[in-house]
Amino acid sequence: MSDRQLFLAARVAEAGLAGWLPDGAVLVTDGRIEAVTRHADLPSDASATHSIVELGDVSLLPGFVETHIHPDKAFIADRTEGLRAGGPTAQTLVAELKKAFTVEDVYRRARRVIELAVRHGCTAMRAHVEIDALVELRAVEALRRLQADVAGILDLQLIAFAQEGIFHDAITRDLLREALKAGLATLGGCPYMDADQRAHIDWFFDTAEALGVPLDFHADSADDPAMLTSDYIAEQTVARGMQGRVSVGHLCMLDVLEPAHRARVVERLREAQIHVVSLPATELHVKGRADARRTWRGITRIAELRAAGVNVSISTNNVVNPFTPYGHPDLLRQALITAMAAHLGNLDQLAWLPELITTNPARALGLADYGLAEGRRADLVVLDAPDAVQAITEQAEKLYVIKGGRVVARSTRRSELAPGLAG
Ligand SMILES: [Zn+2]
Repeated sequence: MSDRQLFLAARVAEAGLAGWLPDGAVLVTDGRIEAVTRHADLPSDASATHSIVELGDVSLLPGFVETHIHPDKAFIADRTEGLRAGGPTAQTLVAELKKAFTVEDVYRRARRVIELAVRHGCTAMRAHVEIDALVELRAVEALRRLQADVAGILDLQLIAFAQEGIFHDAITRDLLREALKAGLATLGGCPYMDADQRAHIDWFFDTAEALGVPLDFHADSADDPAMLTSDYIAEQTVARGMQGRVSVGHLCMLDVLEPAHRARVVERLREAQIHVVSLPATELHVKGRADARRTWRGITRIAELRAAGVNVSISTNNVVNPFTPYGHPDLLRQALITAMAAHLGNLDQLAWLPELITTNPARALGLADYGLAEGRRADLVVLDAPDAVQAITEQAEKLYVIKGGRVVARSTRRSELAPGLAG
């Protein structure tokens, strides 16, 4: 006996978010999409063969996808003073705290991140897990347990990530290799944490090639063009035949390059099929603190990258720690922050912003069965809004979050107006 549902919504996003299907219907069998159609075009026996879920005057989209997030160092803002003028960097503050992380502590905080993310519409996530001489493999142990515990609710991919660089001690490189052999699916580098950025990048490409895993770099996070690495990462991606298997987070430096130089770098990223991930909430908090004349906001050139054909996403990055004390794994919130911070507020831009938290990150993660099309997995989010613009401006409630055809989160928002105002 198969498990069959019929979800009815006023608007259903078309495959690839190309537009909206009015009076839409999504037929699901055993967790996979059987058909996406108009209500009027449903087979006559659909209501007899499927259990009907009437969603009402809402928008139905494919589930949100996080590409770049750090659950292992979330919810530690209350353990430190945070950033202040002339004080230590966020990296330094967190490195100190990390020494005391236990497996249980990491598990508890990371689980809270996952629960919040699911409530807010996330159905797939790729998370960084720090590996170094300070935390060793304790965060790996916690996140691998969590990955198993949330299976069926959230697809959680893990990145073996070298936040502290790899040339400061003798054990980080071995621990990274050990974590990949134990099953972490992606290798994550951070060139600006080592003095020789190119040697760092080379080691990551060599290791990724040897172990057959994709790469994810934190790169070009500062504003000195002399430190640029994304052009070299693109060059190596092509040289090693890894097109489409390399992601780069931050890329803030792109914003300060001369326009002609920027265009050349963007073209190389496009040729190498690099997936760019912008992290606006963190950039707004961390960047531009030393400039006495003007406060640089640090967001990469999202619209230019997209117009040039680069696959660009946005992601949460940090949650309640010195990097982003107000971080929250709600991608609809990140879309609003992006609209505000990156000059993306006209109607056309607000209409395509949802790509940056759905189809584009799904592509970056290589989620082959993602999207609102026949045969794909029924990973869906239902927003209490008539369209993307209103969903973003009003921060619409995520009424249902559906994973593999099963409702995994349900929320409501209740408000009452005084009689004179109520319709
Ligand atoms: Zn990060």
